[in-house]
Amino acid sequence: MSDVSVSEARTLLDSARRIVVLTGAGISAESGVPTFRGSGGLWKSYRAEDLATPEAFRRDPRLVWEWYGWRRELVRGCAPNAAHVALARFAERSPDMVIATQNVDGLHRQAGTREDVLIELHGSLFRVRCTSCSWRSPHTDTIDATSLATLPRCAPCGALARPDIVWFGESLEPANIGRAFDAAGVADVCLVIGTSGVVQPAASIASVTRAAGGSIIEVNPVDTPLTDIATVAIRTTAVDGVPALLGT
Ligand code: ZN
Repeated sequence: MSDVSVSEARTLLDSARRIVVLTGAGISAESGVPTFRGSGGLWKSYRAEDLATPEAFRRDPRLVWEWYGWRRELVRGCAPNAAHVALARFAERSPDMVIATQNVDGLHRQAGTREDVLIELHGSLFRVRCTSCSWRSPHTDTIDATSLATLPRCAPCGALARPDIVWFGESLEPANIGRAFDAAGVADVCLVIGTSGVVQPAASIASVTRAAGGSIIEVNPVDTPLTDIATVAIRTTAVDGVPALLGT
């Protein structure tokens, strides 16, 4: 991490009135949250791409819930790290700040990030929604996937509930992505942490800020497709870089 890049980035943040933050798997990897991608992410020989789809849930909701129950327990053993905490504290003293995350692990929330600051673009492991009506709810109980009858149900209508996660082949919630793009369009700074910048449309958030004349600060140990348009790139991990940058 270069002192020059950190001080340049701090200068940008100090003069920014509006800030949008985009976080990805890199920030949570340091809390021990697995990515569930690639050969290391297999569960009972299934790949994430085989289970995190509406088709898989229609075919075998019990199997998909069993997998989410397992993921939920793994994540429950992880704690927010210094980067999550620094962001939550920074948001407390920045009146106009939005944190849009691609992560579903709930660690920003657990670190104390306020509800009105946070946009969970891909949903959350700790929320459910109804497969029939519009009901959504936090849900943190252990999942009992022994039979269809024991799976989470909708409180008002009794239909099967599903994880409140955006699956492969599904669109992001228009309200969420709209809020994120609105924030990006007026932001003086877009701070991009631990994301490769290839997952769309979340990756476009930084480009929107740039196109509107704002600056991009990237915190990532490696170059990403966003590095080319970044005003300042801080080459380190989230845990090293974010607290140093935010001074928390
Ligand atoms: Zn319902």
